[in-house]
Amino acid sequence: MAIIVQKFGGTSVADAEKIRRAAQRVIKAVKNGLKVVVVASARGKQTDQLIADALELNPNPPEREMDQLLSTGEIQTVSLFAMALDAAGYDAISFTGGQIRMITDSVHTKARIKSIDAERIHKQLDEGKIVLVAGFQGIDENENITTLGRGGSDTTAVAIAASLGAEECEIYTDVDGIHTTDPRIVKNAAKIEQISFDEMLELASLGAGVMHIRAVEFGKKYDVKIHVRSSSEEREGTMITSEQPQMEGIAVSGATIQKDMAKIGLVSVDNKPGNAAKIFARLANAKVVVNDIVQTEVSTEKANLSFTIGISDLPAARKAIEQIKDEVNCESVFIREDIAEISVVGVGMRTHYGVAEKLFGALAKAEVNIDSITTSEIRISCVVNKDQSEKALEAVCAAFELDKPVEKRSR
Ligand code: ADP
Ligand code: ASP
Ligand code: MG
Repeated sequence: MAIIVQKFGGTSVADAEKIRRAAQRVIKAVKNGLKVVVVASARGKQTDQLIADALELNPNPPEREMDQLLSTGEIQTVSLFAMALDAAGYDAISFTGGQIRMITDSVHTKARIKSIDAERIHKQLDEGKIVLVAGFQGIDENENITTLGRGGSDTTAVAIAASLGAEECEIYTDVDGIHTTDPRIVKNAAKIEQISFDEMLELASLGAGVMHIRAVEFGKKYDVKIHVRSSSEEREGTMITSEQPQMEGIAVSGATIQKDMAKIGLVSVDNKPGNAAKIFARLANAKVVVNDIVQTEVSTEKANLSFTIGISDLPAARKAIEQIKDEVNCESVFIREDIAEISVVGVGMRTHYGVAEKLFGALAKAEVNIDSITTSEIRISCVVNKDQSEKALEAVCAAFELDKPVEKRSR
């Protein structure tokens, strides 16, 4: 009997009616002869509410206690979900992350999964039960509760699917699949039928919040079939798969916008071996995740260095740079919080020419100034002013015809 993992996001389990509806999805899969593992998020905006509750009592809450608190959101959902299944006449059992030995490292609020006790889940499935696992959480080796970072229930689901050898991991959410860009910002963004792990990794890392990035990493590593789909509509969503030959045919598959960013620039640091290493060692030590790094030599003696980070890492990054700036003989430091990054992504970029020209042309026509540009093999990103960023995204989507399905775009 094949196993399927079904993950329900916060909006899909926001109230009793929605939990009942989600339970019907599960029951349908059981009736189709599948063993089902459900992973669920906290209901509605509960995680935000718990964070607000914590901040009301302490503006700088200890991270261990934060994890202890936030993990309760998903625990409530899975027990309620199990009750709904029981009421419908199905045998179900819910577990916390700790109860299925979802072992993580000890980095509170952004822990990484190390291992899962698949046996415990298998045993319950073999007894004919529907197994529900609270998303977003685990425990470290000292039994402290940890959480996986915002949006982390996707990662719980895909990691469980990988460890159980599940047939498929369905991600039920409030959109009908992955779109070429966030459909809440660009209303006519087209739905994508199939997308490669690499493209989805880029989109997720560039701010497409629809999938947690580490979930995609797990999917790629263990080749888990991921199906992102709507919890309120029946139709097929988007399959995230390994790369298929036809995917090369289209240059740009999607575009992203990242608004919660900051940029730090170090002006005129000494241009000598070891300085970049010193700066980034200090940032790593402060657990700051650095995105794009740009360094330019301005003379044989001096270089300018800048990098972007998530805005939540700014206090830690600011402190780290303060500590290192004199050591690298930096003339001045500038910090910008009014920026956003627009990116286009596509595996076809490896073989198509003219993508950069089209992107910069679209921004020029929209009169958006480009602050800095970074590229990888399958993406181009431009930092722009935050207040121009949505206009920029719309211009880019129009230029690459991201409102149309792939087969209707001009070549
Ligand atoms: P859930 O609570 O189900 O995990 P999320 O809010 O985390 O849901 O993710 C779904 C949201 O992701 C959508 O409502 C949409 O606004 C946003 N999103 C951002 N980029 C994209 C994209 N490229 N395709 C689809 N949705 C996207
Ligand atoms: N409840 C957590 C959050 O809101 C995790 C998740 O929904 O995936 O970020
Ligand atoms: Mg999510």
